[in-house]
Amino acid sequence: MFREKGELSEKIEGILPRVAKPGRYTGGEWNMMVKDWRSVEGRMVFVFPDVYEVGMSNLALRIIYGLVNADSRFLCERAFAPWPDMEDCMRDEGVPLFALESKRPVASFDVVGFTLQYELSYTNVLNCLSLAGLSLRAENRRGGDPWIIAGGPCACNPEPLAPFVDVFFLGEAEEQLLVLLDILAVGKLEQRAARDEQACRVIRRKTLRRAVEVPGVYVPEFYTHGRGLEEPSGIAERTGVTTLTGQPAPEESDVIPAVAGGAPYVAEGAPELVKKAVVRDFEGAYFPDKPLVPYLEIVHDRGSLEIMRGCGRGCRFCQAGMIYRPVRERSVETLLVQARSMLEATGYDEVSLVSLSSGDYSRINELLRGLMAELEPRKCNVSLPSLRLDSFDVQIAREVQKVRKSGLTFAPEAGTQRLRDVINKNVTDEDLFRVAEEVFREGWQQIKLYYMIGLPTETWEDLEGIVEQVRGVLAAAKRAGRRGARVTVSASSFVPKPHTPFQWEAQDTPETLLEKQAFLRAGLKVMKVKFSYHDVYMSWAEGLLARGDRRLANVLESLAAAGARFDGWTEYFRSEMWREALVEAGVDGDWYTSRVRSEEERLPWDHLDCGVRKEILLRERAKANALVGGQE
Ligand code: SF4
Repeated sequence: MFREKGELSEKIEGILPRVAKPGRYTGGEWNMMVKDWRSVEGRMVFVFPDVYEVGMSNLALRIIYGLVNADSRFLCERAFAPWPDMEDCMRDEGVPLFALESKRPVASFDVVGFTLQYELSYTNVLNCLSLAGLSLRAENRRGGDPWIIAGGPCACNPEPLAPFVDVFFLGEAEEQLLVLLDILAVGKLEQRAARDEQACRVIRRKTLRRAVEVPGVYVPEFYTHGRGLEEPSGIAERTGVTTLTGQPAPEESDVIPAVAGGAPYVAEGAPELVKKAVVRDFEGAYFPDKPLVPYLEIVHDRGSLEIMRGCGRGCRFCQAGMIYRPVRERSVETLLVQARSMLEATGYDEVSLVSLSSGDYSRINELLRGLMAELEPRKCNVSLPSLRLDSFDVQIAREVQKVRKSGLTFAPEAGTQRLRDVINKNVTDEDLFRVAEEVFREGWQQIKLYYMIGLPTETWEDLEGIVEQVRGVLAAAKRAGRRGARVTVSASSFVPKPHTPFQWEAQDTPETLLEKQAFLRAGLKVMKVKFSYHDVYMSWAEGLLARGDRRLANVLESLAAAGARFDGWTEYFRSEMWREALVEAGVDGDWYTSRVRSEEERLPWDHLDCGVRKEILLRERAKANALVGGQE
């Protein structure tokens, strides 16, 4: 095995002429940090389980890369899932997954840290482990192997990945990750000096027991879900019985009881409830003011200013809105300093204001004015990713459009007031039509509208409402004198997520979603509106993993063995492969997706506290239920 720097470089260079976009694998970007391997106590490689262009656009990567490297005790390098052409060459040539900075094998680091940004990247996590030459299951790895850790939004229910990961990190990294790294680095040093594997196992246990004292740390092997199981108390109702596996949905008695009904066994010393880590001092928290600047065009090729964390709006379907609480803002003064230093260090011509709901930033106009004063002379642009209709201020739009006018995006989410009330999206048709008319008058030519289909309680009337709303926006364009205005519509499929008031709800089956998509397509076609939507089978697989438990680890393992990778990409997602993996593992996927779960049922993530208590989620769910008939 390649353990030393340089050994791999030649082999990699030999492969690169044979693959598309070799720049994905060369490193050497502006602001890249390369530290001396021997000068530090702990070495981490941050693995983004997707292609370079996606990973490099991720703010978590920028923060963690800078945060760890800013500490003299540690170094952090990067690795990305190689695109299939590169992976095939690597496997042919015996080249393991490597870090871009030093070209060392990922397996030679002390800690391998994955970020779990979306569920369909899980097969890439397993594929990356395999490509690194590491055993997939933690129980089969040896003392000389690195620790495998994982964080990110999906860590709020990481159970399908539990057997593969040593340590999950819940919540925000800035104040606790270095504490965890210190513990793991010491443990790895001790393990590598240990006389045999038996001694390594003792050190492993001791290290993990120390790790669980760090806020946000969840060690899955300290919890089993196999004790005291009872039958799930309420498989209430199914909304559809067509299974992706092509088999009839099993009767209630066939359902294998998973975590439902049974309290997880907690090893001595581990907390019964793991609380996510929260950054207390957001104003002073680490900010990457010298981010990496890629040579290759990436998905979001611009500087990012994180103006706010958390969102207090409380849309009931929104996991991010629940798990990133509390709401915290950075001051305008700090943000202007950060913007200046970032632009000087990167040469970017666009700055994006990152947050869940930038329009809610309390000093948004002041910030934009300050930023424009800074950016205009440099011919730089500000971009606001998404705007709330009810907080939309045309003054903001005017500030932003001074340099360059890009399209505006709004998310009414649902087509009728009734359904918007159910999901707690407090916008009205009037808000939308007024804002649309204003922005068309201001000179915008394009508006993009985001909706979600398959929301709890949705009826055909709600879908008809989407078509009517789009008609209203086109009428607003006409009133504003913009006959050539473009309105595009995107409809994602609702996937119930853990830690939200809708975590108990059933997900629409792929067949139902297909019908709903066809209905919208027909309605929007008449108005010549461009309509995009999600692959329904991918949404189904996302839902399966999002609310899954440890039994799904076998499904993931079968998928990895069958060669599944890049499942988040329509061109690589193969629903037949998922079907076969489910059959092989003896798991009924619809049991996870298509039934309403009982409120008494123990959910696979009940031992993980991501900030909003279950009582509050139940209260919100009750409020939504009270609105089903259209009145409170
Ligand atoms: S959908 Fe947007 S506004 Fe609503 S809670 Fe989520 S982030 Fe906030």
